[in-house]
Amino acid sequence: MEYASVIVDISHEKLDRVFQYRVPKELQNRLQAGMQVEVPFGMGNRRMKGYVVGLSEEPDYPPEKIKPLTGIVEGSVKAESQLIALAAWMHERYGSTMNQALKTVLPVKQKTKQKQSRRLVLKIPVPEGEILLQEYERKLYRAKARLLKALLEEGTLSWQKATDGLKISAQVIQRLANAGVLKVEAETRYRNPYEGHFTKREQQVVLNEEQENAVEGIWADYKEGIRKTYLLHGVTGSGKTEVYMELIARLIQTGRQAVVLIPEIALTFQTVRRFYERFGDRVSVMHSRLSDGERYDQFLRAKEGEIDVIIGPRSALFAPFPKIGMIIIDEEHESSYKSETVPRYHAREAAVFRAGMCGASVILGSATPSVESYYRAKTGVYGLYRLSGRYKDACLPKVSIIDLRTELKEGNRSIFSRKLREALGERLQKRQQAMLFINRRGLSGFVSCRSCGEAILCPHCDVTLSLHNDGSLKCHYCGYETHMPKTCPSCGSKYISGFRAGTQQIEREVVKIFPKARVLRMDYDTTRTKESYEQILTAFGKGEADVLVGTQMIVKGHDFPNVTLVGVLAADLSLYAPDYRASERTFQILTQAAGRAGRGALPGEAVIQTYRPEHYSIRTAAEQDYENFFRQEMLYRKMLGYPPAASMLGIYLTGPSEELLKECSERMGHLLRQLLVEGLVVVGPAAAALARKNDVYRRVIYLKHSCEAAILKAEKELQRELEQDTIWQKIYIQFDHNPLNAF
Ligand code: ADP
Ligand code: ZN
Ligand code: ZN
Repeated sequence: MEYASVIVDISHEKLDRVFQYRVPKELQNRLQAGMQVEVPFGMGNRRMKGYVVGLSEEPDYPPEKIKPLTGIVEGSVKAESQLIALAAWMHERYGSTMNQALKTVLPVKQKTKQKQSRRLVLKIPVPEGEILLQEYERKLYRAKARLLKALLEEGTLSWQKATDGLKISAQVIQRLANAGVLKVEAETRYRNPYEGHFTKREQQVVLNEEQENAVEGIWADYKEGIRKTYLLHGVTGSGKTEVYMELIARLIQTGRQAVVLIPEIALTFQTVRRFYERFGDRVSVMHSRLSDGERYDQFLRAKEGEIDVIIGPRSALFAPFPKIGMIIIDEEHESSYKSETVPRYHAREAAVFRAGMCGASVILGSATPSVESYYRAKTGVYGLYRLSGRYKDACLPKVSIIDLRTELKEGNRSIFSRKLREALGERLQKRQQAMLFINRRGLSGFVSCRSCGEAILCPHCDVTLSLHNDGSLKCHYCGYETHMPKTCPSCGSKYISGFRAGTQQIEREVVKIFPKARVLRMDYDTTRTKESYEQILTAFGKGEADVLVGTQMIVKGHDFPNVTLVGVLAADLSLYAPDYRASERTFQILTQAAGRAGRGALPGEAVIQTYRPEHYSIRTAAEQDYENFFRQEMLYRKMLGYPPAASMLGIYLTGPSEELLKECSERMGHLLRQLLVEGLVVVGPAAAALARKNDVYRRVIYLKHSCEAAILKAEKELQRELEQDTIWQKIYIQFDHNPLNAF
């Protein structure tokens, strides 16, 4: 890469600018985003330090005006500087303001509280102190004398009492501290949210051959100074967590720290338990359900070297560790790793950037890797390791696919197929547990046929059309619009409608068929409070219920040995999401759901109900055949130009006036079509999937190109155009790189 974007002098207030520098030939192979560099700056070409926040082949200015950077600054960088550089990179990469980015990476500060919690302790013997006091009084050092006198009387003093009560300045305190007369101590220890919950245990884990192979391979690279990203592809229960923990144990020996990202707060408890049992209280968490105080304390504990491992959802990436050696992203395919608020960063990308900054490796783990990551692993960008079997031959569950069209034909209109009902009854009788799951997510206004299983798709984008209240069907990528047909366009059946079934309805059905069954429900409604996830899961784990009904949150990561049946009520729901990742999500969620059954000694069974038994993501999930799924999915992505076969940028426009928004989006579409970026595909403008929210209207435009650089170039040129006219200030514009969810 020939040019580097650098932010200079991070102590400066005005950070909203980056400067481009030429990268000298001899540094071109070594320089990475995140590194600290020295650059000539300003008129006098003063030497300043800065951070590389981006690299490119193309100059943003006439090349003769671009100065070369002077060199790479070796040695480690303070944690806070790293975080500020990370913010600068987010600002560049995701098009947010610097302020939004800084708010994302830095915690809420609680300065006052910190002051109050300090105290002063006398450090010298009292007789010695009394002699010193006489000396101070003789020399008329009044403040020093006052402070020393109080300390001699009381032994300790709170900081506040010394400064506010005795009117002693911080400088005087500091001078006495320097002279060894007193010591400033933090009065309270930082809060540890898991103190007393778990205990460290001696463990004897002998890794199996594949686990060993992954650990030794990654560790050998690490010791040789090779830093890269690895994908650990292993079915659920194959021991990925054991691999992470072994690597972390070795890493800690070298004085480095680790960050472990998990997709959801709901999984924190059990993950923390396993890490705590192995590493003791040098493990902590960082997530939004901690109180502000607890969160800030974890920030301080990390900064002061009290912990080695931080666990948490994507924001734990901003742990202020000075020397991170590994960043682990478990269940890397989960969409929760992408922020849905500005800056819309992806934790995978941000992790790679942070890793570059502190010389760390990144390890992505999943049973069902994202198509992006697997593509990179296959093309050699990532290292790839596989764990193919469950530990100790606990076998994978037997999966059956039930065709709901046949059920309908044979007169069964219930949401339970005969097979699922039978299997459920059997479990209840044997006192084993079952999980029933409906993969409903976000908006699902699609229309499908219960007779042939086809959903109505956009003829241009191959995603489902969404049904609107006025009876029209719309595409949220390109804006195509049509009427709701009376009969199925594929088979002519009149059983065509939106699909409606929720967790509550399932719960009611179960109780109706099996009045004695004890049912727990877990969905958005029942998990709004801080402890509710844990309460429901703990209750189910203890056998206080026979059936757990829920949305996707029940299929992620939980280990219940007594669960021997998993039922998926309608696998098609996620298949028909109006979004090019619908098949990928369906595959992932079905594979995971099936993986929940039979985690203990008892063999498991999964029943998948669907209207599309022939669809490749359902078939390959039932066979647990990732490779085959990936092959077919890549064909689709290539054909339609979706990531990772191409790069995509979502441009989201919002505003209070529908008319103005329409006009603006059309003008923007026009502007984009006139840009001189060869091969750029402009899709839309169209109404967003959620076209109106709280009286604010939302529209979208998508850009596609086979090459990411072209997308970035188009984005930059568009932004330059937007500065030319004040009309753009009347609406709100957001950029979303490789969007995961329909806006
Ligand atoms: P994953 O993270 O891939 O889902 P886990 O690490 O949770 O898999 O492993 C599943 C179960 O098997 C856990 O209870 C784990 O302790 C156990 N296990 C895996 N590998 C080993 C091993 N080498 N020795 C002992 N127990 C293991
Ligand atoms: Zn039909
Ligand atoms: Zn379309």
